[in-house]
Amino acid sequence: MILTELRQRLRALGALPLHEGRVLRQWAQGRPLIDGARRWHDDFFPQRVREDLPQLTRDLAALATLKSRHPAQDGSARLLVGLQDGQSIESVLLPRDGLCVSSQVGCAVGCQFCMTGREGLVRQVSSAEIIAQVALARAMRPVKKVVFMGMGEPAHNLDQVMEAIEVLGLHGNIGHKNLVFSTVGDPRVFERLPQGPVKPALALSLHTSKRALREQLLPRAPKLAPEELVDAGERYARATGYPIQYQWTLLDGVNDGEDEIDGIVRLLKGKYALLNMIPYNTIPGLAFRRPDWDKAKAIARTLHQRGVLTKLRDSAGQDIDGGCGQLRARAERPVRL
Ligand code: SF4
Repeated sequence: MILTELRQRLRALGALPLHEGRVLRQWAQGRPLIDGARRWHDDFFPQRVREDLPQLTRDLAALATLKSRHPAQDGSARLLVGLQDGQSIESVLLPRDGLCVSSQVGCAVGCQFCMTGREGLVRQVSSAEIIAQVALARAMRPVKKVVFMGMGEPAHNLDQVMEAIEVLGLHGNIGHKNLVFSTVGDPRVFERLPQGPVKPALALSLHTSKRALREQLLPRAPKLAPEELVDAGERYARATGYPIQYQWTLLDGVNDGEDEIDGIVRLLKGKYALLNMIPYNTIPGLAFRRPDWDKAKAIARTLHQRGVLTKLRDSAGQDIDGGCGQLRARAERPVRL
């Protein structure tokens, strides 16, 4: 089911927009559609909608089902989530009531250091399946922040991701700046996101200050120079009032040198931005290595001293043997410098 089908189904049963909004709100907030305690369903919905609610509840729950849960010592947990066609995606329960969701099965960007990128794009995840990941997580614990940093490049599934963001922001009781759209920097994102009724915060994957290296590491990302990416990010940050989060996966001997520190300062000093520096988690079979932790701390400290707001983050769920390099590499746990 996609959201359009859900809406058509409700309208065919005589639901008005206010009924549709109530269903979306209950679902996105992880509450039962049939709320016996409040009994509003008895007289609020048209009779044919009321009669359909039990089946609709089962159909929505079937969109995303828990296949397995892998808790980590830091309080995060990786969820393997089954979709109706037998495909699987990952969601991650993050510390402090965050949730990382997947927007695609696989990914076409092919980042050299990411496990998901190696399998290519399998299929898109629908807006309903994105909301279903949130509803599933909310059945386990509160969710106050949703980051689109799981499997996939949200910009490659823009319509569905924007629809999910709209529902979560308008009906799902999640603050707009607590919806974080993460992208390698597709120009369509900078055109479309400001037009939506819910403007999410933006995380941009930078990873290097050098254009040629970026094209090598992110081979099928748009060919934007880091300067162009930061210019577009700055405009978005000023328009929304939220700082841009720049993501930097720190790769030993690749993007952790003095030249990159100078490049970061040149790009980000004075910008309305936060740099999230995440030491890479070595993935068996991939050539990249995790840098020494003390070196990572020294880099972050130097950037701070040179005027770039930097957070060194350890990956949530490092001890989980997860399949998605992105989930593990980007999840958040700030570290004292
Ligand atoms: Fe896709 Fe993100 Fe992995 Fe790159 S890092 S291949 S954009 S999932």
